[in-house]
Amino acid sequence: MKFVPDLKKLSALTAKIKRLKMDIGFVPTMGALHEGHFSLINKARKENDIVIVSIFVNPAQFGRGEDFKKYPRSFKKDIAACRKLGVDFVFLPEKEDMYPQGYSTFIDLEGLSGRLCGAFRPGHFRGVATVVTKLLNIIHPDTLYLGQKDAQQAIIISRMIKDLNFPVKVRILSTQRQKDGLALSSRNAFLSKKERAGATVLFKALQLAEFLISNGQRDSGRIISRMKELIQKNKQARIEYIAIVETGQLKDIKKVEPGCLIALAVKIGKTRLIDNTIIGCA
Ligand code: AMP
Repeated sequence: MKFVPDLKKLSALTAKIKRLKMDIGFVPTMGALHEGHFSLINKARKENDIVIVSIFVNPAQFGRGEDFKKYPRSFKKDIAACRKLGVDFVFLPEKEDMYPQGYSTFIDLEGLSGRLCGAFRPGHFRGVATVVTKLLNIIHPDTLYLGQKDAQQAIIISRMIKDLNFPVKVRILSTQRQKDGLALSSRNAFLSKKERAGATVLFKALQLAEFLISNGQRDSGRIISRMKELIQKNKQARIEYIAIVETGQLKDIKKVEPGCLIALAVKIGKTRLIDNTIIGCA
């Protein structure tokens, strides 16, 4: 495995891979890799000739007062993990290479970027869409691997790829969880022992919603209030939002329908966690 800090070198390398007619699977990450990332890397490994992972804590997707500075960074461990998983190239760009002085082009998706998490993290998805666009243009992968854990991100990137005619397939893989249901996330490292124990409320609330739906409940408002009641029993938890939406424009729906998304963001102490589920009711 090679690690490539240089943007031009990576472009030259991917051009060569293309000339050799080999498939590139690409997994963009912000590092602090865990089993969630590993599942994407493993799938990419199985489905492609060449696997490229990027590790870049993208400043453009963090708002003022957010955790850019203290976002967990463990590059050495990450590189060792990538090596073990059979990654071919790890791209570790510098912030100054991605956003040199005078940088002024950003990608924003009307409507979608401002909903759910976007309403609480203005500019976040603009940063995400911009960095993914840049990475796609640098790497030219055949397939892009994303996690369902960040459902809105996956929807936004898929939309952008369609809208801007990027010649890349998107694979969205299921959320990897700990035994008690907590979705794996680099930010889980911020939780104290007590907070960690309480952080299962997100998954429990989603399970409650699924249970109510499987027993015939279709009223989004009622489902959301039951989820709120459950979460509010945990005194460390502060709900940012709970939403039941369709997956095209992420607009609220009054009645649950097959394929809709239930998403929530909850602060446990100071740590903001998100989770979601896609409903498969008939
Ligand atoms: P991040 O490093 O948090 O930007 O995540 C990089 C990629 O890994 C994104 O596509 C995430 O959706 C995905 N990912 C993060 N956590 C999980 C998880 N628990 N299960 C599956 N995919 C995940």
